[in-house]
Amino acid sequence: MEGGAVVTRFAPSPTGPLHLGHAYSAVRAHAFARAGGGAFLLRIEDIDGTRSRAEHVAGILDDLRWLGLEWDGPMVFQSARSGAYAAALDVLRRRRLVYPCFCTRAEITEAVGAPHGPTAAYPGTCRGVDPASRPGEAHAWRIDMAAATASAGPIDWWDERAGSVRAEPGSQGDVVLARKDVATSYHLAVTVDDAAQGVTDVVRGMDLFAATHIHRLLQALLGLPTPRYRHHQLLIGADGERLAKRRGSQSLASLRADGTDGRKLAAGLIEDIPPAGFSIGRD
Ligand code: GLU
Repeated sequence: MEGGAVVTRFAPSPTGPLHLGHAYSAVRAHAFARAGGGAFLLRIEDIDGTRSRAEHVAGILDDLRWLGLEWDGPMVFQSARSGAYAAALDVLRRRRLVYPCFCTRAEITEAVGAPHGPTAAYPGTCRGVDPASRPGEAHAWRIDMAAATASAGPIDWWDERAGSVRAEPGSQGDVVLARKDVATSYHLAVTVDDAAQGVTDVVRGMDLFAATHIHRLLQALLGLPTPRYRHHQLLIGADGERLAKRRGSQSLASLRADGTDGRKLAAGLIEDIPPAGFSIGRD
């Protein structure tokens, strides 16, 4: 493999039980690392203290062991890395590429409710608001997308299926980089951590393809290396919809409890053969 040893990661959020889609991602990331003689890391994305649960962390570990996936090194908890995220935010703040946003949760829910999927771009209400005029008021930090993209200039990233991709984060607007309640965001934390952990190949679902445009921009602004991206297609349930935690898709824990052989399941998934009733999506 060019550029040294492969490092991949599985980065679940412990906000609910994992489903087959997570297993598909984990199995692919693990197999890719092992095929390249490299490392497979586990990162627990628990920045959201109100939705993350220890029982779900325990469930993730049980799921991975059941699938026969061993991870390398100590697992990383994002909740323990707030200093690294604050330092990155500080770089952007000093360059005036982020601004405080005082909008209420109700106003921003649409834009920040989930790291995945299409969201309405923030209309920029707080861009240009002087923070000195609202002392002591809680606020998020949003990227000034126009300033940030101008500062970064043209940038590209590489995806296994899409090939060379021009980063075009602009349509996603001034996304939140630090929430009012958390002091970081999915986008900032994942970018900082992939670099800190030396991840060379990000294996994850197509639902995060749009997010990669933002991650690539943050890498450019923060002077971080850009991994290769291997966005894979998503598992589709019997109802024709992609699996999702929030839709209560059948959990790996329930398959385990029903006596399903996790290693056989993993061996099927790596050959793109999901269990009966599931299929691999096409886009
Ligand atoms: N934590 C994210 C999730 O559970 C995945 C992050 C990533 O792979 O970049 O959906």
